[in-house]
Amino acid sequence: MATPIGNLADLSPRAQQVLREADLIAAEDTRHSAALLVQFGIVTRTVALHEHNERDKSDDLVQRLREGARIALISDAGTPLVSDPGYRLVRAARAAGIAVSPVPGACAAIAALSVAGLPSDRFVFEGFLPAKSAARRAQLQALVGETRTVIFYESSHRIEECLRDCVDIFGAERHAVLARELTKLFETVLDGTLADLAARVASDADQRRGEFVLLVAGADADVDVAKLAEGRRVFEILRRELPPSRAAKLAAEITGASRKALYETLE
Ligand code: SAM
Repeated sequence: MATPIGNLADLSPRAQQVLREADLIAAEDTRHSAALLVQFGIVTRTVALHEHNERDKSDDLVQRLREGARIALISDAGTPLVSDPGYRLVRAARAAGIAVSPVPGACAAIAALSVAGLPSDRFVFEGFLPAKSAARRAQLQALVGETRTVIFYESSHRIEECLRDCVDIFGAERHAVLARELTKLFETVLDGTLADLAARVASDADQRRGEFVLLVAGADADVDVAKLAEGRRVFEILRRELPPSRAAKLAAEITGASRKALYETLE
């Protein structure tokens, strides 16, 4: 069940009731969740269920569910299973024939999408990008021709590097939205090209604080996505040996990618 991503008033009356009436609350971090429970006067017992013990703990919790216990699953914030633990427990409970019922509420990705003003009829949730630059760039590279809005989670330590890599891979002109500290005191939603956002975040330390959702507009649907991705891949190889302009020209020629679209990702 979901818990707030900042503003405690987002814990619905139904969520409060479920937490109060559960026999046990499985929480990602029991100390963290204690603050929320105290706030609402909820005294239900908690047990830790985090990424390091989920495999072992799930069997025990499923056994308790079989015996009739009602267990509420929460994470530190937002909806469990969304870049958070819980999927193994839910899978094990379902496999054991136990009904698992959602108590919906806040989710940072959906909250950000709802205020971004980017196409939302189809979107892709990518969660956290890899921490290491090479792996992060490879993942972005694989998304270069994605036409749906792409949603990422990012932390304060990496937001600057992440935006820099997005500029390099998706191109400076791609439209994006950066949603920070949603539902909290310093909520900000910045809107502009990737280059605008990268410059804003680089020049203002406040814009690097807190929690972030980055939404990147999808690629132009008229562009041959597979060819463009191949063009980018070939460009990356050629540029190790050649000046960027020569590498781009050859990459377009070799792969048949639109030269204009390829150049746009390189600007
Ligand atoms: N399960 C959560 C959900 O439903 O959104 C996400 C958990 S994930 C471990 C935490 C990440 O979600 C943060 O690093 C940030 O990218 C994003 N996030 C959580 N709360 C946020 C908020 N108030 N504003 C912006 N992003 C937030």
